[in-house]
Amino acid sequence: MGLLRSGLLTGCVILAAVLPSWGQFNFNYDAGQRRWTLANTIVEANFALNAEGNFRFEGFHSLHNHNNAWMAYPAGSSPLRIDGDGFLFDQNTQYRLVATGRRQIPRNGMRYFIVLEDLERRGRLFIEIEMYLGQPAVRFSARLRNVNPQPLHVTGLDILPLAIAGNGRSFRSFTVEQWWGGGKGGNFQVNQRTLGEGKQAIIYSGAYGQQCSWFALRDARNNGLFAGWEFDGRAIGVVDHDPGKELLQLAAPVEGIDRTLAQGEELAIPAFFLGLYEGDWDEAGYVTQRFVEAAVAHPASDSRFPYVSWDSWNYDLYLDEATLRRNARIAADLGIELFVIDLGWARQIGDWYADPRKFPSGMRALADYVHSLGMKFGLHFAFAEAAASSPVLLENPDWRSSENYHYFSADSLCLSHRPVREWLLAQTLRLIDDYDIDWILQDGENMVKKCVKTTHTHAPGDSNYANATDGLDWLIDRVREQRPKVEWENCEDGGNMMTYSMTRRYVTSINADDSGPMTTRQAVYGASYPFPTRYMDRYMPNTQLTPYITRSYMFGGPWIFMNRLPDMRPQDLQLAASEVRLYKSMREHIREGKVFHLTGRPAETRVDAIESYHAATGSAIVFAYRPGSAPAPRSLRVRGLNRALSYEVRYQDSGRTLMMTGAQLLDSGIDLNLTSVNSAEIIFITPEQ
Ligand SMILES: [Zn+2]
Repeated sequence: MGLLRSGLLTGCVILAAVLPSWGQFNFNYDAGQRRWTLANTIVEANFALNAEGNFRFEGFHSLHNHNNAWMAYPAGSSPLRIDGDGFLFDQNTQYRLVATGRRQIPRNGMRYFIVLEDLERRGRLFIEIEMYLGQPAVRFSARLRNVNPQPLHVTGLDILPLAIAGNGRSFRSFTVEQWWGGGKGGNFQVNQRTLGEGKQAIIYSGAYGQQCSWFALRDARNNGLFAGWEFDGRAIGVVDHDPGKELLQLAAPVEGIDRTLAQGEELAIPAFFLGLYEGDWDEAGYVTQRFVEAAVAHPASDSRFPYVSWDSWNYDLYLDEATLRRNARIAADLGIELFVIDLGWARQIGDWYADPRKFPSGMRALADYVHSLGMKFGLHFAFAEAAASSPVLLENPDWRSSENYHYFSADSLCLSHRPVREWLLAQTLRLIDDYDIDWILQDGENMVKKCVKTTHTHAPGDSNYANATDGLDWLIDRVREQRPKVEWENCEDGGNMMTYSMTRRYVTSINADDSGPMTTRQAVYGASYPFPTRYMDRYMPNTQLTPYITRSYMFGGPWIFMNRLPDMRPQDLQLAASEVRLYKSMREHIREGKVFHLTGRPAETRVDAIESYHAATGSAIVFAYRPGSAPAPRSLRVRGLNRALSYEVRYQDSGRTLMMTGAQLLDSGIDLNLTSVNSAEIIFITPEQ
């Protein structure tokens, strides 16, 4: 007891030292008005329990620009919409206040908790509303608890049910596709539209959905609002502006939910966040990314992140220990930091033991060898799939989900069936311990399976919600608690679950699958709006390298070599090694920088360029590409710089260095030395000291 107490005290002292002071937040509850004010030094959000007992969102506005205000629709707006048998909790539900209070939370945050119970006493709501130091955003989440002996049956849930006053404004919306239909349906294209007159923004988000779980809006004066939600299942986001009614309606109903809560049981309502920005879509993306890094995403544990990595997929399923050792030795010489064995190492999909024919010395011996070379060791793991002939399905044929997604001819498992997820937890921990792995490359086909079986522990209509929260999220959260040093990469043959729940659990995600330099740059172009750049990892398969190829894969998160290294020519290995050094010198800049999309989406017929601007140093790095059918470029205007400063402009390949003013760079731009097709250049722009 004495030990525990002193431990707690020490913990408190440490927390007090790292948390912000109250003065940087204005979190205030007016008990007379029953009104909550939540503000940091940048933005303020207001909620109230009005005279009728309705819990309402009142508005969210900038403290520095009175035009950037998103006030509730006069008829009333609630951040909660839950319905089921005999009840609907929305803006007209009457509640009593059970408790409220504020507390400091990790990551420089402050939270109001609000406990409400409806007057008919059908459920109790535990609401949490948060803000973070220096972040122009508010995050909202809630839990619903059944407080009665009778079951509470929930059949509908809207994650983002806000009604906002139009106030005579017009709105443009911006959304981003995820990778779907194997890239043919979507590869991170961006969609812009002017809302109204029947035009809505639709965001079909989550695993096997079509768009990233994010949108940005802005009015004609570039006052902007963005929103994101933390749910891996499918939800149907809608942004609808009715200019006649002066109503901007947001919604994100969960596609399928069917949960019966026994007395004392709770339903977690996925979190959403709203943020403010002023400017263009690049600014919307940057502000979103900084908030996600500050408050939502799982931090990378290593300051070297994003790693340079190697992946075995170019060998397909034809792996063996000797080949992998040869690759590992060369990889270490190139400066690669993480060595990952892709699909094909196990006896079968679902039978997660190393194939003894391919690994006669055992997987642990290979892991030890990789570690001895100074690299981290990772394994591919498609845990939601199992071959029909794998022992787990022979013994438990009913563990299949009713819908089969045929990942490499395997069958699909239902993660929300309790015995399945418990078996998987044990398998994952065993893998990590027996093979000493540092990194899991999660793969699969639709991580949130549809399953309407009546023999499973979930309701037949609940697999969208249950497979996401009780299945996938539960499994990764339990593994993370028990093996916190292991890092997770998200992949479903591409970035097909681009949600902020994903960022909470994984340190990176693939975007385009292994699909070539052009599709990879196209994916990075779109994904670098809603997601921090570390959530854009890229697979480079080519055995023969040119700077056009290496640089097409260089911008973003982990840079993953997928080459057969022993087959590469000396000059290619030499180029790879120098490009790895170059990447490492830039990765911190790109991880923290603001992405400027200097051209349109990459295409074969035109030059494309992307810039990372690093606010703390005032420097910029520009990547420019001339694809096979693009005419020679003229100059390229750079962005984000200070007009009044002088800058050194240095070209990586030609070595040419010149001085230019910020005004010249912003107005006239830089020359691009892209004299031949399939060429690329990197330009460093640094303010003169
Ligand atoms: Zn099931």
